Amino acid sequence: MRSSLNPEIEHILAYAYRRSVALSAWNGANLNHVKEPVLEALARYKFRGITCSIDGITNETYAAYRRTGNVERVFENIRKINANKRRWKTRYPKLRWHMIAFGHNAHEVAPARALAAELGMEFFLKASWDPNYSPVEAQGPTAPTAVPDPARAAAPASSPGAQPAQGEDLTRTYCLQLWEQPQINFDGKLLGCCVNSWGAFGHNVLEVGLERALGGERLAYAKRMLQGTAPARDDVPCTACATYVGLAGARQWIEAPPPPQGVAGFLKRHGLGRTVVWINNRYGSQLLPVLERLRLA
Ligand code: SF4
Repeated sequence: MRSSLNPEIEHILAYAYRRSVALSAWNGANLNHVKEPVLEALARYKFRGITCSIDGITNETYAAYRRTGNVERVFENIRKINANKRRWKTRYPKLRWHMIAFGHNAHEVAPARALAAELGMEFFLKASWDPNYSPVEAQGPTAPTAVPDPARAAAPASSPGAQPAQGEDLTRTYCLQLWEQPQINFDGKLLGCCVNSWGAFGHNVLEVGLERALGGERLAYAKRMLQGTAPARDDVPCTACATYVGLAGARQWIEAPPPPQGVAGFLKRHGLGRTVVWINNRYGSQLLPVLERLRLA
């Protein structure tokens, strides 16, 4: 994780835990360089989840794309995280393996999937954003099929190498962040989703506060655009995004997600999200199975 290079990261994890703020790195990490105390802190302070980008199971294959990486070190760090999870008796951090399908790693997809299961990781195979780099088709009929990577495919339509949006379900996941997990840059810029890097969905959060920024007109308008009830507008980042262009071209709009359900959803809807985190941090492993059985989770 790049965030793991921050010299304060252990203190940040501990502080967030004490303040009942749930942290995660679902946007991606490579786990090449993580210090031992940080590997322990991830489990101890219940860091919610990490998506790890691993494009091969041998160094030869892995380093073809992640030039300076060492996949053995990545696996070692994952095993250490799992050992810390056992030690701290927690299911966190949840681990997800993202593998980009290339021609040069097609033969390692099946063993990678098996290894992910062994390591307790979810496994996702994605298509490369650049169809000309080591294309899968070049390897013949045994080549794996993959879901296109919308985070890459959804770069601004005008940017070099931008692809039309595909992999609809995953694409929607990124757009749904506007409702479910609006992304905020370190400098307070309201990025909205993890794809957008070229504009803002409204006021700077550090300047006007979270509530006002998220209640802004531009973010609300963007949601209407994505639902197909408002035309594109130049000041909304989606207008320049290949994902939106794809959705609009196919007239396949985003459906606004339902409000969070269950006991946790009820508490979140009433501004008690941190209470949910506090309860989950302390009693989640005992409470969750009960709530699931009662269909209240
Ligand atoms: S269409 Fe908008 S919300 Fe969806 S990925 Fe692009 S910038 Fe993000």
